[in-house]
Amino acid sequence: MGNQDVVTESTEGKEKQESLNLLTSTQTVIKEALEKLGYQESMFELLKEPLRVLTVRIPVRMDNGEVKVFTGYRAQHNDAVGPTKGGIRFHPEVTEDEVKALSIWMSLKAGIVDLPYGGGKGGIICDPREMSFRELERLSRGYVRAISQLVGPTKDIPAPDVFTNSQIMAWMMDEYSRIREFDSPGFITGKPIALGGSHGRETATAKGVTICIREAAKRRNIEIKGARVVIQGFGNAGSYLAKFMHDAGAKVVAISDAYGALHDPNGLDIDYLLDRRDSFGTVTKLFTNTITNKELFELDCDIIVPAAIENQITAANAHNIKAQIVVEAANGPTTLEATKILTERGILLVPDVLASAGGVTVSYFEWVQNNQGYYWSEEEVEEKLEKVMIRSFENVYSLSQTRRIDMRLSAYMVGARKMAEASRFRGWV
Ligand code: GLU
Repeated sequence: MGNQDVVTESTEGKEKQESLNLLTSTQTVIKEALEKLGYQESMFELLKEPLRVLTVRIPVRMDNGEVKVFTGYRAQHNDAVGPTKGGIRFHPEVTEDEVKALSIWMSLKAGIVDLPYGGGKGGIICDPREMSFRELERLSRGYVRAISQLVGPTKDIPAPDVFTNSQIMAWMMDEYSRIREFDSPGFITGKPIALGGSHGRETATAKGVTICIREAAKRRNIEIKGARVVIQGFGNAGSYLAKFMHDAGAKVVAISDAYGALHDPNGLDIDYLLDRRDSFGTVTKLFTNTITNKELFELDCDIIVPAAIENQITAANAHNIKAQIVVEAANGPTTLEATKILTERGILLVPDVLASAGGVTVSYFEWVQNNQGYYWSEEEVEEKLEKVMIRSFENVYSLSQTRRIDMRLSAYMVGARKMAEASRFRGWV
């Protein structure tokens, strides 16, 4: 999704280009973070790309009898700390560069919340909104057969991401278990509870984001009660987040999906919207008085949470953001240009690699429970998640304060440290 360059501004006849390539943007920040940590160029050479990327072609028998061949990827960024870990997305705009960048972010997330993992990521170019349940099952199983040599509970552990869910994880776990001829719940996380999933995994990303919003609001003396919140995206992260913010007394004044946005300055009826959304987070189609996703970012509010896809806050709209805090629940929603603009404007930006790390944290808890065969209560999971997120926020925030850098750079520094150390101890650099 979004790996092209676009023209964003035209100043005095000269057109200024802003790079939307996620991989090169990530590499720019990694380079800076490693330099600040005192590493040589060779460390950047190791970490700038995944160690492995597998491209697969998956033939799927469609319901009409025809065979359609899908392309998929699995990237493993760095496994110096431990097995790689990260989700699989199903989306028509998946690209290899995007999957690579997302695998690097997973390494950083694991470093920030201090999990014994490196980063991995997978993606299949497809549109699940236009596929039947059985076609999706065949595609999910085909993907696992195609990548089975590369993955496993001690090698690389997949999970849900954009447009994938616990049902897809269940098919994938079943397929992997058949190939290996033993039940392997620890092969994948984000499973249904009945198949070894963890309590609290479904809501974990949104819980993590909620904790980051609370911590950021404290630093800016904003009361959550009554705060006006705008959320872009009503999928797994955005919808639960809207609920948690609403329950905490915030006023969710706007939400959106891929087709448009709903706005009410007095606060939306979140429970009603949750009730009406479909499994892809689509709800605005039911209304006529919608605004655009572009207008959403310019609304009067205190906190904005991009919780959909990448490259949403760019040099073209960063100047118009009215919020004091931006918390990235999606992966890569803000460009580097926009990060600079927001920081210069004094807006506190909590980066994706920190804010969205609640999901992988509870995925880790799920994997631990699968490995030990002993399961925790929802309260236990939530208590542990809360501790991890508060500690991680504080680590990243305090480093950004002492080094006078934005939180994206400090998050990259915190996130890269252990992976770089582990790579050095292994003698890779
Ligand atoms: N896809 C999620 C992420 O981007 C979760 C990954 C996981 O649970 O392993 O963080």
